[in-house]
Amino acid sequence: MKPAPFAYARARSLAQAVDLLAQDDARVLAGGQSLIATLNMRLSHPALLVDINEIDALGGISLRNGELMIGALTRHVEAERSAEVARHAPLIALAMPHIGHPAIRNRGTIGGSVAFADPAAELPACLLALGAQIDITGPTGSRTVVADEFFKDLFETALGARDVLTAIRVPAATTANRVGFAEFARRHGDYAIAGLAATARADGKHFADVRLAYFGVGSTPVRARHAEAALANGDVDAAVVALVQDLDPPDDVQATGAVKGHLAGVLLRRVARQLMEPRP
Ligand code: FAD
Repeated sequence: MKPAPFAYARARSLAQAVDLLAQDDARVLAGGQSLIATLNMRLSHPALLVDINEIDALGGISLRNGELMIGALTRHVEAERSAEVARHAPLIALAMPHIGHPAIRNRGTIGGSVAFADPAAELPACLLALGAQIDITGPTGSRTVVADEFFKDLFETALGARDVLTAIRVPAATTANRVGFAEFARRHGDYAIAGLAATARADGKHFADVRLAYFGVGSTPVRARHAEAALANGDVDAAVVALVQDLDPPDDVQATGAVKGHLAGVLLRRVARQLMEPRP
């Protein structure tokens, strides 16, 4: 199928992008890896695409004040290959190779993935596990939303129609930080049937600040708070049992909710082992 007709404008600055987005039914175009597919399938019919690819201010990866900032236009492949990301945000480095296939990672952007908020996507769950901050600029200026408050519902986020997601910021990892990541997909690169991104701080024989963020098991990425508490006490079995209080996965085209629930427990055991290993 071909998309319904739409107008196209290339924004040269963030301010211009926000102005253009004032038009009815305008939509940001970043890597196009999700948006163009939905247009071609006529699942969405924007009147205007606002291309943000030439806004230099939206690119770049930098360490500032103990935080790693990743610009919204950073391609997945740039994050995957970045030494800064590997060192300061190892959870994101673990997740990147699971996002689609090389052709998609060459064009798809960090900001697009977070803004699109597919519940089975890796990056939104990583941001939740990392307690990331999401920087947004819109008609009333700039603001920051924490990941715990950003993902609202299925494909719904804290972004308004005229907002541009400009960057994500995550606390730079220290040697005390542990991370874990695992997913089940039918083939490597497919959207996950279920996945888990996790962070914790090593505290003697126990963990502190455990954050378990599942993807593919709900309408948004989901924190498993009861399981987090059990894991902080070092009890993996109790954490797996606690998952029934945290997750209620719906059936979808990939698997039944019951299968996803089972996989969530298997993932938790795998990720708990990763969390126990000190970073090299
Ligand atoms: P676009 O497609 O350009 O935009 C997506 C949406 O986000 C649009 O609504 C757009 O308006 C909005 N948007 C984009 N950038 C911004 C911004 N800066 N501010 C405000 N709104 C913005 N993703 C995964 O996570 N895991 C996978 O396994 C995976 N597999 C894939 C397999 C295939 C075959 C394909 C085609 C895609 C797959 N993807 C997967 C999606 C891929 O990661 C996309 O690149 C990503 O979801 C969207 O990024 P984009 O830059 O292409 O955004």
